[in-house]
Amino acid sequence: MKKNQILLAAALICASSLSAQEKEYPEPEAMTPGMTEFWTPQPKVVTPGDIKTNTAPSDAIVLFDGKDLSKWQNSKGEAADWIVKNGIMTVDKSKGDILTRQKFGSFQLHIEWCVPSDIQGESQARGNSGIFLQDMYEVQILDCYKNETYMNGMTGSIYKQTPPLVNAMRKPGEWNVYDIIYTAPVFKEDGTYLYPPFVTVIQNGIVLQNHTQIRGTTEYIGHPQVRKHGDGPIRLQMHGDPSKAISFRNIWIRPM
Ligand code: MG
Repeated sequence: MKKNQILLAAALICASSLSAQEKEYPEPEAMTPGMTEFWTPQPKVVTPGDIKTNTAPSDAIVLFDGKDLSKWQNSKGEAADWIVKNGIMTVDKSKGDILTRQKFGSFQLHIEWCVPSDIQGESQARGNSGIFLQDMYEVQILDCYKNETYMNGMTGSIYKQTPPLVNAMRKPGEWNVYDIIYTAPVFKEDGTYLYPPFVTVIQNGIVLQNHTQIRGTTEYIGHPQVRKHGDGPIRLQMHGDPSKAISFRNIWIRPM
């Protein structure tokens, strides 16, 4: 009898250790794009006043003067091959992103962009592009003129992080002006931020981002990631949506 009790106890211990080994825990739910898209409250619409085109000051590096793309390359390091015509450059949707050949730390960037007057599409599939600061953090470009989308993906958002303070869009066919003041991050040895990046974004003379802290990379799916990096190029996005391509002009930068 006693022997049977010992055997039973041993069997129970064995069974419980087996069940502990075999216990299954749920995996985190897979992230989908919609999990990081927030639609309300929509920033209010502000109609910009008239501003003159701000040509490059004497100490600026001119990145595009309307003539050629010599300061730019594609993602493979080859010559940039978007379309240059009549003093503007237009995204070639068959060619991918373009990046400056030069890398930058902190800077003041001036860039003008225009959505075609006959643009079609809605939400993110309407005049989408973007400016990746140091090739890491996207300031969104989108046609948000009477086109609603998730607020943290609007024009002037830090993509999927911080919505713009207001909607300062001009109509399709009119030129928009961005002035972006960017402070590069400083990293600790372990790859986390000692000082995170900050950005101020002004569109058509109206503040959209006021010294906004950037929390990490601007991911389409998932949360921002902190990845150690040094100086980086300015990347302009070729977005694969089917709407007509946007154009750029008068791009200059002042490293700080
Ligand atoms: Mg974009």
